[in-house]
Amino acid sequence: MTRRAIAVFGGTFDPVHYGHLRAAAEVSERLGVTDFRLLPAGQPPHREGTWAPARHRLAMLELALAPHADLSVDEREVQRGGLSYMSDTLASIRTESGDTPIILCLGQDAANHLDRWHDWQRLLELAHLVVMTRPDAEPRYSDALRAYLEGRSVDVCADLMRTPAGRLCNVNVTRLAISSTDIREQIAAGRNPRFLLPSTVLAYIRKHGLYC
Ligand code: ATP
Repeated sequence: MTRRAIAVFGGTFDPVHYGHLRAAAEVSERLGVTDFRLLPAGQPPHREGTWAPARHRLAMLELALAPHADLSVDEREVQRGGLSYMSDTLASIRTESGDTPIILCLGQDAANHLDRWHDWQRLLELAHLVVMTRPDAEPRYSDALRAYLEGRSVDVCADLMRTPAGRLCNVNVTRLAISSTDIREQIAAGRNPRFLLPSTVLAYIRKHGLYC
């Protein structure tokens, strides 16, 4: 059964890897949505900067998703330029989508620090949250964040479709201990991170001399 909703999976994708891709595949299947977008951050505010420029991160995502028509890339943060605030991004998607449920997907490590995001209390006004399991990341929320999330949890993803925003669902995904940091470090050390990311993405990295 397919459901009308927009799922958004944001990240730096520096580079995209199978941890991201498998989680996206499993969550999109669980949600039953036909509109599942991976959304690369232009200039993430909570980091010093990215390693690869936005155009390369975008190109790698497009290569990774090319064989998978049901998963798309949303370029709006890269096109907008400047700092990328997820609250602005969700507001812009909300403007286009009326009352359609919007679902922001993020890993447990990212969810633990949600209260460091710009305008974080607005996020659940604009979207639901799906928090995906990630190895070595247990739920650990500040008191303020726990209080904010309290009472918003639903057990089944289908319940997110009843309202446009405001609920939280925890989703178990296959635990793949893969990170972009580890891939960048392997490349910088002259090692081969094959099988941790699509071979097309690795070929792109080699061709453009990224992360060396
Ligand atoms: P880095 O090592 O540079 O911090 P990363 O591997 O954590 O990168 P990001 O692009 O920062 O990747 O992550 C984007 C989103 O994907 C975050 O919500 C993060 O929690 C989630 N994510 C990343 N890797 C995994 C994984 N292996 N399993 C589940 N979720 C993941």
